[in-house]
Amino acid sequence: MTQSFQALMIEDVDGKPRAGFKPIALSDLPDNDVLVEVAYSSLNYKDGLAVSGKGRIARRLPMVAGIDLAGTVVESRSPDWKPGDQVVVNGWGMSETEWGGYARYQRVKPHMLTRLPAKFSLRQAMAIGTAGYTAALCVNALEDWGTIREREGEVLVTGAAGGVGSVAVALLASRGYRVTASTGRKETHEYLASLGAKGFVDRGTLAEKGSMLQKERWVGAVDTVGSTTLVNVLAQTVYGGAVTACGLAGGADLPGSVMPHILRAVTLIGVDSVMAPHAKRDRAWATLAESLDLALLDSMTTVEPLSRVPELAGEILAGRIRGRVVIEIT
Ligand code: NDP
Repeated sequence: MTQSFQALMIEDVDGKPRAGFKPIALSDLPDNDVLVEVAYSSLNYKDGLAVSGKGRIARRLPMVAGIDLAGTVVESRSPDWKPGDQVVVNGWGMSETEWGGYARYQRVKPHMLTRLPAKFSLRQAMAIGTAGYTAALCVNALEDWGTIREREGEVLVTGAAGGVGSVAVALLASRGYRVTASTGRKETHEYLASLGAKGFVDRGTLAEKGSMLQKERWVGAVDTVGSTTLVNVLAQTVYGGAVTACGLAGGADLPGSVMPHILRAVTLIGVDSVMAPHAKRDRAWATLAESLDLALLDSMTTVEPLSRVPELAGEILAGRIRGRVVIEIT
């Protein structure tokens, strides 16, 4: 086994979190029960916040960044896992309170592991990553609510060309819904159409303050943007419809009114991937295995080395990343 390996580590420099590469050894890893050799991680918006230092994601320092990992169990003190098992970890506090996936090896707590679903390779599991698994949580929540299944009409995805958005568009379209994609990048229309989007909304029109109730349009929506965009989406949702809120790419505020909720019985469903219980995770991965076309997944994915993460962190926060980025750990 490698004596020392590079980790993308966030450390306290003059009272501020700063990310940089640092060689560490197995003996530096936390004393958790399962040692995983990491093959791939991924790049998510939250990784951008953590690595750039623009968001206080790491709650204890030093912290190995990376909210996702996929790899192979090397050693285990847990009866549930054995060497050779292929595993995935999404969230569970990685990069916040638990050391994460931007390192060749990581020791994790047994409950954090999910068995790699048979349909996916380690690389494909990270092409999905937290973003894709969150998209599946959103789709499951909307289907459980029911309106998108019961009523004909458009399902909206905001931040559509991003990671959560791309997987949400592909999943919803393959499950038979008519998907409208909201994006600020016209040049992604062809790409989004290839994932299954049938209509487009310029994100600028959703970002402007609108009236409390607007023309009913969406039978459901996956929102990754938050703020005024989410308020407008709620104001445009049909009677009895639901919107899943999972993101804040446009802002963490919610400057709206109760009107859609009290006059149209619109429901706002909160979606969290980090601490989602195992049953929800397993269902999300089952939805992905059932409905995500692997060729489409490949078409939305680029693969980058760990060394580029600091640069890519700035790119994802600037909204310049299309689809998903897999981080290859060598
Ligand atoms: P990406 O950067 O890949 O996607 C975000 C997309 O939002 C961009 O591609 C862009 O889409 C759009 N966008 C960016 N900036 C703005 C802006 N200022 N105003 C409006 N739209 C904007 O990120 P991810 O897909 O990884 O994550 C999306 C969001 O979901 C993030 O806020 C992230 O923190 C959150 N998230 C939450 C999770 C949870 O557990 N609740 C889990 C995973 C993600 P376009 O160019 O098409 O307009």
